[in-house]
Amino acid sequence: MANLILILGDQLTTRLSALENADKNNDLVVMAEVKEEASYTNHHKKKLVFIFSAMRHFAQALTGQGWRVHYQEYQPDNEATSLGQVLTQRVKEHQPARIIATECGEWRLHQQMSQWQDTLKVPVEIRPDTRFVCSKPEFADWAQGRKQLRMEFFYREMRKKTGLLMSPDNEPEGGNWNYDADNRKKWSGKPPAPAPFRMEPDDITRDVIKLVERHFSDHFGSTEDFHFAVTEQQAWQALEHFIDYALPCFGDYQDALSDTEDWLFHSILSPYLNTGLLDPLDVCEAAARAWHSGQAPLNAVEGFIRQIIGWREFVRGIYWLLMPDYADENRLGNTRKLPWFYWTGDTRMRCMHKAIDATRRNGYAHHIQRLMVTGNFALLTGIEPKEICDWYLAVYIDAFDWVELPNTLGMVMHADGGYLGSKPYAASGKYIQRMSDHCQNCHYRVQDATGDKACPFNSLYWHFLDRHRKAFASNPRMAMMYRNWDRQASDKKQALIARAEWLLDNLDSL
Ligand code: FAD
Ligand code: SF4
Repeated sequence: MANLILILGDQLTTRLSALENADKNNDLVVMAEVKEEASYTNHHKKKLVFIFSAMRHFAQALTGQGWRVHYQEYQPDNEATSLGQVLTQRVKEHQPARIIATECGEWRLHQQMSQWQDTLKVPVEIRPDTRFVCSKPEFADWAQGRKQLRMEFFYREMRKKTGLLMSPDNEPEGGNWNYDADNRKKWSGKPPAPAPFRMEPDDITRDVIKLVERHFSDHFGSTEDFHFAVTEQQAWQALEHFIDYALPCFGDYQDALSDTEDWLFHSILSPYLNTGLLDPLDVCEAAARAWHSGQAPLNAVEGFIRQIIGWREFVRGIYWLLMPDYADENRLGNTRKLPWFYWTGDTRMRCMHKAIDATRRNGYAHHIQRLMVTGNFALLTGIEPKEICDWYLAVYIDAFDWVELPNTLGMVMHADGGYLGSKPYAASGKYIQRMSDHCQNCHYRVQDATGDKACPFNSLYWHFLDRHRKAFASNPRMAMMYRNWDRQASDKKQALIARAEWLLDNLDSL
């Protein structure tokens, strides 16, 4: 008897563990666009287009290679609206010996999958996802006995394990593990940022755009100007484009924000890495080759590789180590609702408007916009973690629970009590002014902390420190911030708190 092999929308590679030792002629690959997966959050329209189109292209490629594929295209009246229902139908039709799948990337679906064997009355084999450098058990071993986990130490282990940027005597190339100190330049228009890689939509993608416009018209964002890669081959072209045009400056301007450029020198590879179109080690090896051949400097290549074998692997490890309780963490006791302008971009705060508007148009904002603008604002204003996590999960084309949740709940909101990061990334308007040219175009005055036109980030920053004194005052990395707060005259402090409280009561009008 043949097996059913389930391939999910973020598992689009023939190197998938579920396909190992499969019998092309007899086994049946099952792929499905189902309402439940497309609607469990308000996914950005471009994210739906990207995933459906990439799935259709992948199914077509498998068929071309001789695989038998059952593919369900999305229709509003599909009888099967969940993956479980699709499998129920296929089991009835084919009576397979087994269902084989690769583990998924989120707890919600993981729970469903772990019940399938009972509900479908067929053996279900769920294989580890081997598309990561560090397996779940390996991460759990590394984490065991550590009170706090620090990415930097984990990253060094991954460097040694992969040999990336390691000298023949097993030392980090250049003598340092990390060149972040060189990576904090403000970008003032020069060198010009490269145009992002563009792939014009083919017939399949155009059909999917029409489908999303018709059936998901109430979802966030727009399908206009869709230009993402949707096949492995195109994703490799996007990688080559990044290496040729953006990688050399990736490090220098990694933390920069711009009023005019959406993408700066970022790679825009996360959608492909997270869906299987690109393999993380292939990407890192390509970047390392660029350093070895003198095409890109070490600070750029090390910074880029650290994001992938460091941060990306680290957050995944934390997710699977701590779920499901992790998703309920709210150590700072936040209760505020997400301001409506997160969905519209309709705010006079220029930095927020720019980050949200890029998100709405592109399904993308780079890391510093996510962390230091929209994230920082949510942290300072005390947005309930679930609300802000749902927003990040919905609005980005690369958003999958395993990577979005720890970044938002841990890195941005510090809702896990500092398990993921040693201090909150709280910053006043000064930081945004230092790293961007937003403030000169803003309705608010970044140099003011009180008064009607004062930059909201300024007083909110002090309010955040003041209201969470108990949580942070003993953190040595925050001692200087508290010293600065305590040094201020009490009437100034009162004015700052009063301004912040007014802002907190009137967030939707900012
Ligand atoms: P680059 O800046 O070019 O970085 C290269 C690659 O490194 C990325 O493609 C990505 O795979 C990896 N990477 C970089 N930083 C991180 C990180 N902190 N965690 C994991 N991987 C990282 N990334 C996602 O892939 N999906 C998400 O849903 C997601 N949500 C985020 C939410 C918040 C609040 C924050 C602060 C960050 C989030 N990130 C997420 C991480 C990061 O912002 C994106 O990976 C990055 O912006 C993707 O753009 P890029 O490919 O141009 O990245
Ligand atoms: Fe953002 Fe404040 Fe600068 Fe305006 S003044 S762009 S709100 S940091």
